[in-house]
Amino acid sequence: MSPADLVRPEVLALSAYAVPAAEGMVKLDAMENPYPLPPAMRRELGEVLSRVDLNRYPDPGARRLRELIARKMRVPAGMELLLGNGSDDLIQIVTLALARPGATMMYPAPTFVMYGMNAAFTGMKAVPVPLREDFSFDAGAFIERMKAERPALVFIAYPNNPTGVLYPEEQIVEVIKACEGLVVIDEAYHVFAGKSFMPRLQEFSNLIIVRTVSKLGLAGIRLGYLVGRPEWIEQFNKVRQVYNVNVLTQAAALFILERLEVLEEQAALIRQEREQLRKNLAALAGVTVFPSAANFFLVRVPDAVKTDEALKRQGVLVKNLHPGLRNCLRLTVGTPDENRILRTALREALQ
Ligand code: PMP
Repeated sequence: MSPADLVRPEVLALSAYAVPAAEGMVKLDAMENPYPLPPAMRRELGEVLSRVDLNRYPDPGARRLRELIARKMRVPAGMELLLGNGSDDLIQIVTLALARPGATMMYPAPTFVMYGMNAAFTGMKAVPVPLREDFSFDAGAFIERMKAERPALVFIAYPNNPTGVLYPEEQIVEVIKACEGLVVIDEAYHVFAGKSFMPRLQEFSNLIIVRTVSKLGLAGIRLGYLVGRPEWIEQFNKVRQVYNVNVLTQAAALFILERLEVLEEQAALIRQEREQLRKNLAALAGVTVFPSAANFFLVRVPDAVKTDEALKRQGVLVKNLHPGLRNCLRLTVGTPDENRILRTALREALQ
């Protein structure tokens, strides 16, 4: 007997999410914030974490952390929060809850691969609707397709990964209004976009927002939050693993998010540096840079495999999206030093 005899065919057909080794590399592949916390804050955090009772289970509802996030992230009155082990966990929770037999999930594509993966895990039919050539959103085509497919669930990354494009707000509103199912706006990169559906959450009964603290500078603690009407949260809560946010994550997030301005200042530096990097990339012959509202750029080069290998040889790790996205690389905005190294290495790699 082999796993192939027993494992579900849709799982057999998947590839595991690949994470390359990054030791010693300039790591620009995963949209992390490159800045550490200030030393004094790290020391104080160490003290805080040393007092955590590791022998006790976490507060399953993480009440204090939910209250803090609601206050800091300006969650509108009447809306509730659900926390996750990263927003990956929340995407899975929502999908699991809505995966009735025969149900459909739709999303503009290319986009974050986890939506489609979760459709496969749960037996949902996945309907990716292609973006235009320039990765802009064709709301008309999407709405037409919704009429035919009648999806139970729509995921829209706002801004999108891996393209960085922020779709016009009014187009998203049209989708929400036309959708008979639940629309999840994934705002993983909201700090870099300065745009959010949070203030409009009360307007739509079929709207949920998912966010993460990963891109803000806390990718290592694994914390995501979902915001929506209490009726939705009540259902999702049943699917959530009871202790999905561990004691160290809760304690660290309580301490750090109380000082959110530290991370917001870092995000502002990254936004400034994004503009500098865009100019530098655009000046390189043979490189097409797509506009980005996130902390990364999608670029097209003549030969992505060759360029990626040449970058690796020079110690720079980026994400190669080829062949799915023909000759495209995704480059995270790093520190000014890292971005200089990237520019020099890329110039060399394109020779
Ligand atoms: N949504 C989007 C659009 C992403 O790009 C990512 C991470 N690459 C996630 C969600 C998942 O983030 P995390 O699980 O770290 O919260």
